[in-house]
Amino acid sequence: MAEETVFGKIISGEIPTTFLAETERVVAFPDINPQAPVHILVIPKTTEYADVTELAAGDPALLAEVVAVAKQLAEEHANGEYRLVFNNGASAGQTVFHVHAHVIANLEERSLIG
Ligand code: 5GP
Repeated sequence: MAEETVFGKIISGEIPTTFLAETERVVAFPDINPQAPVHILVIPKTTEYADVTELAAGDPALLAEVVAVAKQLAEEHANGEYRLVFNNGASAGQTVFHVHAHVIANLEERSLIG
């Protein structure tokens, strides 16, 4: 179970954020600290899942929806090619424990890993 995070405040509107995509269960918005020309976060609206391992086990259809929204965004904001990154755990770089996909595109440096 995910704890209250900054993403919960974005979903509730407490932190005003421009949504680039929204479905009944998923929302996407620009990363506040972009690591590439296109760097968008796609998250489920539910706060139930802390990381992608939990999401995959608990609601694989919702994970598939996150991936589908990521693809749609890559087509809208880049040439349809993109890197999809899920950080899992603090030692892997995860800082927000509400599952989120980083959609990264138009990379200028091939060495970028996320
Ligand atoms: P993580 O390191 O957990 O995989 O990724 C968390 C991401 O959330 C980071 O890339 C960070 O820049 C982004 N982030 C943290 N706080 C906010 C916020 O308030 N608004 C937005 N748009 N992004 C945020």
